[in-house]
Amino acid sequence: MLHVGVTGYGTIGKRVADAVAVQPDMTVAGVAKTTPNFEAERAHELGYPVHAVLGERLPDFEDAGIPVAGDLDDLVAASDVVVDCTPAGVGAQNRAVYEAHDTPALYQGGEDADDVDASFNARANYEAIAESDAEHVRVVSCNTTGLSRVLAPLDEAYGVEKARATLVRRGGDPGQTDRGPINDILPDPVTVPSHHGPDVNTVLPDVAIDTMGVTVPATLMHLHTVNVTFETETDAEAVKETLGNEARVFVVPEYARVEGPAHLKEYAQDAGRPRGDVWENCVWEASVSVEGRDCYFFQAIHQESDVVPENVDAIRALCTDVDAAESVARTNAAIGLDFGDSESERTPAGGDGARISADD
Ligand code: NAD
Repeated sequence: MLHVGVTGYGTIGKRVADAVAVQPDMTVAGVAKTTPNFEAERAHELGYPVHAVLGERLPDFEDAGIPVAGDLDDLVAASDVVVDCTPAGVGAQNRAVYEAHDTPALYQGGEDADDVDASFNARANYEAIAESDAEHVRVVSCNTTGLSRVLAPLDEAYGVEKARATLVRRGGDPGQTDRGPINDILPDPVTVPSHHGPDVNTVLPDVAIDTMGVTVPATLMHLHTVNVTFETETDAEAVKETLGNEARVFVVPEYARVEGPAHLKEYAQDAGRPRGDVWENCVWEASVSVEGRDCYFFQAIHQESDVVPENVDAIRALCTDVDAAESVARTNAAIGLDFGDSESERTPAGGDGARISADD
């Protein structure tokens, strides 16, 4: 049983903790919080030992009725591996704490790729990370995860000569009230290409990709327009089948009449998903078009949750001998990632790691 500590218990951290808690081979060693807010209260109710990052805040936790199990050092000491889900840049500072305990750690997409040993996406480079000596590994951002999950299988099936994607990025997460109200459509970044393409190359170094980013006043999900020029000719049915066979891609059927991210969130809530999370890439079946070697489609990416199963797999890649296929299957089954699930064969992993920087 792997004891997993979670540092930073916000949007990503609380989801990672809950996903770890339901894995048959993992348990939550504890979570580290800076302040005793509603999320700390819920962590305590769920039975996760709550650690106070800053010793001087300990009385605040006690005043709020939240027992404190220790500080950050105590949490790292109690953990076989730590998943750092702190805001961008804090993970790089925390690395020294994990190193002092000789404890491997995972970081999130907000960290700079140069501050870690390697970057990770289960579909792109699980085996490469598992076979490497990397102990401080960054799970790539939500957008990069979404792109890697479709480009890896398309490259294997048809060869990617060139991929181009425009990322229509949500302005903030639903809880990020400090980012609004907003009413604009921003080229973000205004420079081309955006950092997302190079970030894909941290896990898929051989895929040629350029990306552009646009930020819009929405909170639900990101929307990608993807255009891939293949090395070989194919047709739309074959591409739908290729993507449909992926363990973390949901080809949204036309009959479902899912018009956009709001419907996808409804879909997840109706299915009883925790927090209405959509862990899969959602590719609109009706959008998949192929003309010669040119392929086009739309996909929606739930920024708050798509990296969560990737963190669980990254823990196994770092700390166990479990292979990619088994880890992905185990993670998906435990959390209930099954939209568009079929008996068709699922294909995981392959590829090398590299490095660069990226936020969402
Ligand atoms: P968040 O602000 O929701 O949560 C971060 C938590 O860490 C907060 O509770 C904060 O109080 C806490 N914290 C701050 N300093 C800390 C410290 N020194 N020690 C412990 N905890 C501390 O942020 P988030 O959205 O969960 O993002 C976390 C990381 O995940 C970032 O690298 C981000 O880029 C990445 N990420 C975010 C998203 C997203 O859409 N939210 C998607 C993919 C990746």
